[in-house]
Amino acid sequence: MKKLIIMAIVLTLLTFLLPVMAVWGMSGEDRESDVDVIPENAVEAAGTVTIDSDEDSTSSTNTAKDIDSPLTGKADREIYVSVEIDGRVETMTLQYYLLGVVSAEMPASYPTEALKAQAVAARTYTYSRMLAALAGKNVHDSADVCTNPGHCKAYIDWEQQTDVWEEIGRTDYIDKIADAVMSTDGEVMLYDSKPIVAVFHAASGDYTENAKDIWGSDVPYLVSVESPNGADYKKTITISAEEFQEMIYNEYPDALLTGEPSEWFGEIVRTQAGGVESIIVGGVEVTGKEMREIFDLPSTNFDAIPKKNTIVFNTKGYGHCVGMSQYGARALALKGKNYRDILHWYYTDVDIRKLT
Ligand SMILES: [Zn+2]
Repeated sequence: MKKLIIMAIVLTLLTFLLPVMAVWGMSGEDRESDVDVIPENAVEAAGTVTIDSDEDSTSSTNTAKDIDSPLTGKADREIYVSVEIDGRVETMTLQYYLLGVVSAEMPASYPTEALKAQAVAARTYTYSRMLAALAGKNVHDSADVCTNPGHCKAYIDWEQQTDVWEEIGRTDYIDKIADAVMSTDGEVMLYDSKPIVAVFHAASGDYTENAKDIWGSDVPYLVSVESPNGADYKKTITISAEEFQEMIYNEYPDALLTGEPSEWFGEIVRTQAGGVESIIVGGVEVTGKEMREIFDLPSTNFDAIPKKNTIVFNTKGYGHCVGMSQYGARALALKGKNYRDILHWYYTDVDIRKLT
């Protein structure tokens, strides 16, 4: 009987986890992590913490008890965050929430320093949302954050996650995630005295994108940087010429796709990072973001190669490619960089502070 109950629980959990596992893929590295916030709104909504300007803020981590904010001086387990989960709101400690976010956002197989960088990025993002809510600029009706990865961060209940890892004998994953969150307790990234909007994505091409090139607004800490091992993350997608025509005509009835596919494409404008800003298709200008949506491409960094009866998309990266590349964080950690090095690599001129 006991065995049956355990099996039932495992089956239920597996059903719940299957969609998550499906996007992670076998390697756990295909995770889409695409926070499509509009940075200008998010930056504008982010709360401010006041820092003594005379203080030297160049060291990698400062203990800053002088920061004036309702969230400072408190450990993660002393801060409560309201989370909208499937239409209902649950209140939990920031520590419990972050354990769930890091589990859901980055494969636990990644190196510890990459997981720590992820924990600080997730905490920083949560701080920015909580401070916005405290300032009366709530992004959600009745919660600080939601669990929609396209809006806030992906989330999985930590107790459920630990049960699954215990069942499959991966208690090392539990230890790694717990270490990532707890060893960085209270650490956040600040820019101009504000917790930054710490967006991240699964993998960049060779460079990350400028926020300006993807969302249209300049964010000084979200600028293009070289991303290690970016060239690893490639995918080829082939679709028939007929299907290509149909999908373009659905969105752009004015496009004219006649003759050979080799005649369909015109000028391509690329971003500094190499992503497609816009491309002429059948005489019509289509943005890289629209192409990504229409053809379900992993990123906007692609070449469209017309063949006789097909169009071949050679793509690089996965996600919006702004901020930290999780795959790049993994690469940096494997090269011996620590989590602070990783965060400073991807978020330009930020100050990493321990606010407890
Ligand atoms: Zn949200």
